[in-house]
Amino acid sequence: MTRVALVTGGTRGIGEAICTTLQAKGYVVIANYAGNDQAAQEFTERTGIPTAKFDVSDFDAVQTAIAGIESEYGAIDVLVNNAGITRDGTMHRMSFDKWDAVIQTNLASCFNTCKAVIDGMRERNFGRIINVGSVNGQAGQYGQVNYAAAKSGIHGFTKALALENAAKGITVNAIAPGYVDTDMVRAVPEDVLVKIIRTIPVGRLGRPEDIANSVAFLVDDESSFITGSTLSINGGQHMY
Ligand code: NDP
Repeated sequence: MTRVALVTGGTRGIGEAICTTLQAKGYVVIANYAGNDQAAQEFTERTGIPTAKFDVSDFDAVQTAIAGIESEYGAIDVLVNNAGITRDGTMHRMSFDKWDAVIQTNLASCFNTCKAVIDGMRERNFGRIINVGSVNGQAGQYGQVNYAAAKSGIHGFTKALALENAAKGITVNAIAPGYVDTDMVRAVPEDVLVKIIRTIPVGRLGRPEDIANSVAFLVDDESSFITGSTLSINGGQHMY
């Protein structure tokens, strides 16, 4: 049976690796993105994977877009909530807009997308949902009250949703990546990044594939007894 997977924020970084890994395993994959049309077009040229442009923080837009995806590609069996942003700054310098953008994009988005797929998954008695958290949601991080709160919220959201749907063949898990070599991390100043790498026992940044392989494992039909868990993938940086 061919499974259909929607990966939010799937056109770049970790999301792209998740998309191509699932594609290689035979899934029909659709990659969502927000606004970077050029990156999305290059992604489709590289991978052949179709894209769907919508803002995961916009509840109504998500309901409409996911209904459209399901009528075109079939019911979504696998949802990977990967889209995320950072708007860093210490609390005394953080505007409400930075707080709100990160909470809406990283956390409220999980409600928006899950709301659109959960009834169908329950009817079909099958579903796999992965929410992408972060080591900084587990451990906190200087200059990231917004991001740490959103990512920490994801871990609670995951457990509650897992409980509600465990009897319906739906698993809901979170992953908590450490620092992974993507555009998001390349935006961190070089001197700060050098210090961060010193705190990673494995001695390097993660690769997007390191994260994607774990997602592929968790969404597999065979992984039906793993739900409500958070898998840390951080090179030993934080053992939670
Ligand atoms: P990137 O910045 O490389 O890519 C982000 C992706 O998310 C892009 O496809 C982007 O689309 C999309 N996106 C952003 N905002 C929205 C939105 N409102 N609606 C729809 N799509 C959106 O991110 P990473 O690959 O680095 O990170 C992926 C996830 O992993 C995030 O949730 C991040 O918080 C998490 N994470 C990353 C870590 C890292 O070290 N990189 C560590 C721990 C967690 P577009 O191209 O259109 O902007």
